[in-house]
Amino acid sequence: MRVANFNGGPGALPLEVLEEAARDMLDWRGSGMSVMENSHRGKEVIAMMAEAEADLKALLGLDEEWAVIFCQGGASLQFAMIALNFAGPGGHCDYINTGLWATKAYKEAKICGAKPRLAASSEDDDFTYIPEVFDFDPEAKYVYLTANNTVRGTQWSTFPKAPAPLIADMSSEFLSRSIDLSRFALIYAGAQKNVGPAGLTVVALRREMADRARLDVPNMLSYPVYIKHQSMYNTPPVWSVYVAGLTCKWIRNTIGGLKAMTELNQAKAETLYRAIDDSGGFYRGTAKSSSRSLMNVTFRLPRVELNDKFKKESAGTGLVGLGGHRSVGGLRASLYNAVTLADVQTLVEFMAEFKRKNG
Ligand SMILES: *Cc1c(COP(=O)(O)O)cnc(C)c1O
Repeated sequence: MRVANFNGGPGALPLEVLEEAARDMLDWRGSGMSVMENSHRGKEVIAMMAEAEADLKALLGLDEEWAVIFCQGGASLQFAMIALNFAGPGGHCDYINTGLWATKAYKEAKICGAKPRLAASSEDDDFTYIPEVFDFDPEAKYVYLTANNTVRGTQWSTFPKAPAPLIADMSSEFLSRSIDLSRFALIYAGAQKNVGPAGLTVVALRREMADRARLDVPNMLSYPVYIKHQSMYNTPPVWSVYVAGLTCKWIRNTIGGLKAMTELNQAKAETLYRAIDDSGGFYRGTAKSSSRSLMNVTFRLPRVELNDKFKKESAGTGLVGLGGHRSVGGLRASLYNAVTLADVQTLVEFMAEFKRKNG
C-alpha cells in the first residue's frame, strides 16, 4: 500500500512517474535492458539526457543564454563548486544566512579559501524569517541565498536586487512554483527533494557566468567542463536524470505546467496553514507568517511529548515523515510536488481528530 509521504527528503515522487519507470525497468525503449544498463555514450541515452535538459529549460523558461547541467555529489557539493569556480582563494562573496543549508554553504566557501561574508542573516530570531535588509559587499563575486529553507519552513517570496550575480540553492522548491529567473546567474537543486532520485543535482547557469569561472578547478568540479561535455565528462547519473526527465513530463502533461503546479502547491499549503491557524493555538507554525514556505510546513504542539505522539499516531494511519528535521525537532509536513491535495486533506482531518483527543 502507498502511504501519504510527507518526508523532507528524499521526498515523494509522482505515482505515474514510478509506474512508468517500473514499466521501463527491464526493457527501456526496446533496448532489451534497463536505462541504467545502457551505455551513456549510446545515442539513446544521449538523446534522453538532451530531452531531460530541454524539458527542464522549457519548464523553467530558460533561453539559449542558459545551460542546464547534471552534476553529482548532492546539493552539498555545489557549496564548494560555487566558491571554487566563482570566488577562489581570497575571493569575496556574500551569503545570506537563513538556516542550516545556507550556514553550511557559507562555511564550505571558507574551507575553499574564499572570503565569504554575511550580507544578512535571520539567526537573531532563530531563522524564523527571511531578511529584508542587506549589506552587500561591492567587491563580492556573487551573492548566495537559499530559496526555500527546508529545515525552518521559510521561503523567499521576492528575491533581493543584488549588485553581484545572484546564486540560489533551490533544492527543496525546484519546479514547485513559477519564478522569474532573470535576476539569477545560477540556480541548483539536489534532485531528491522534488524531481527524482538522489545522486543528481540539476544546475542551471548563465553561459556568461560560466565564462567567469576560474580555470584552476579540478575537472569534476568545473562548471565549464560540464557544459563543454554535455554533463558527460565522466559517466553521468543516467538513472536519476531519466527519472527527473519523467517528472518534467509529468509536470507538463499531467499537471499542466509550472503555473498549474504553482496553484496546486498554493492550495495544498493554504489548506494546511489554515488548519494550523484555526486550531486555537493547539498547532503553532514556527515560521513568521510572511516568510512561510509552500513546500515545508513546520509546526509544533504545546508539549514536546505531544509531538512524538503525533508522529507515532500519524504514521500508524499511513501519514509518514511528519517529524521535524533532527536539528530542530517539532513537526514538519513537506508538501513536495508529488504530495496530493487529497494527502493534505487527510492530514488536516487527522490533525482535527488528534486535537479533539489531546487538546
Ligand atoms: C537537502 C538540502 C541540501 C542538501 O542536499 P544533499 O543532496 O543531501 O547534499 C541542501 N540544500 C537544501 C535547501 C536542502 O533542502
